[in-house]
Amino acid sequence: NLILSFESSCDETSVAVIENGCKVLANIVATQIKSHQRFGGVVPEVASRHHIEIITTCIKDALEEAGVTYDDLDAVAVTYGPGLVGSLLIGVMAAKAVAFAHHLPLIPVNHMAGHIYAARFVDEIKFPALALLVSGGHTELVYLPRENEFQIIGETRDDAAGEAFDKVGRVLGINYPAGKEIDELAHQGKDTFHFPRAMEKEDNFDFSFSGLKSAFINTVHHAEQVGETLDKADLACSFEASVVDVLAAKTVHALKKFPVKQLILAGGVAANQGLRERLDQELKAFPDVQLLKAPLKLCGDNAAMIGAAGYVGYKHSVRAGLDLNADPSLEFDWINE
Ligand code: ATP
Ligand code: MG
Ligand code: FE
Repeated sequence: NLILSFESSCDETSVAVIENGCKVLANIVATQIKSHQRFGGVVPEVASRHHIEIITTCIKDALEEAGVTYDDLDAVAVTYGPGLVGSLLIGVMAAKAVAFAHHLPLIPVNHMAGHIYAARFVDEIKFPALALLVSGGHTELVYLPRENEFQIIGETRDDAAGEAFDKVGRVLGINYPAGKEIDELAHQGKDTFHFPRAMEKEDNFDFSFSGLKSAFINTVHHAEQVGETLDKADLACSFEASVVDVLAAKTVHALKKFPVKQLILAGGVAANQGLRERLDQELKAFPDVQLLKAPLKLCGDNAAMIGAAGYVGYKHSVRAGLDLNADPSLEFDWINE
């Protein structure tokens, strides 16, 4: 089974060719980060223009790299939400055009389901499973009782974890997206500031990161006012320690209430080394739970993960017509067998 998959929900244009939902034959990712950096975040109008300029090149490159032609394909899969509507539309239009021209089934994929299925490139997903989904726009604990069913058991009440990394990065003078650089800085510092760990001990699976962000910003501004210079690495380390502590505590809390076979770590923030190491440690107390961390290169947005999720949809006869539309605030659905 060969699936041509598309991802264009934010600022990455990506096209992949995936075999049997678990083997990457090609994964072309064109990032627009440079065009958005001077604005400190993604500018939607700029993003959709870039997608439209590059998407046909991405398709051509993906097919070439995989060494396949349109005739070899079994289906086309595409992210249709959540994300920026103008960006999503470009991928949806391109996927529809290919599906129509080559008489291929069209599989609609939820971007967040895609992030979870990036773990499929490490090992088969076994159910029930729990996913810690941490990205630029989402921070969720998702329970998967079986394939193709998603239950959000907890989520952030304000900022997403990745968003907090990026906002704190701006204060430190680090370019968007700041997660990777803060992570590297954090490993050279110490947790000297002891920022708050919001909701850490509460009996639920929700998160909150806006208080941490404010505490961080206040600390930096106060130091500026009194002419004090703070150690950047210690600031980064203290911030990351707070985020990782809360993510780990809530995940452990969920593992105690939901006996699962696997814990899946996915989303852009899943690339965080502090978080990966911490979950390795925490999972020692759960010898029956396998930790599946999305491959580092597939934590951020990419079409390979959309192909992996698309294959599941394909098997479950999930299909879209040529009237498929982008849905910027799409929630987990997909259980239409
Ligand atoms: P969503 O998936 O919720 O729609 P998105 O697609 O914009 O949002 P992703 O591409 O999944 O988000 O992730 C990007 C985020 O991951 C950014 O906020 C970035 O700073 C963060 N990130 C990337 N690498 C790291 C890292 N090593 N540590 C922490 N955060 C990181
Ligand atoms: Mg991105
Ligand atoms: Fe994403």
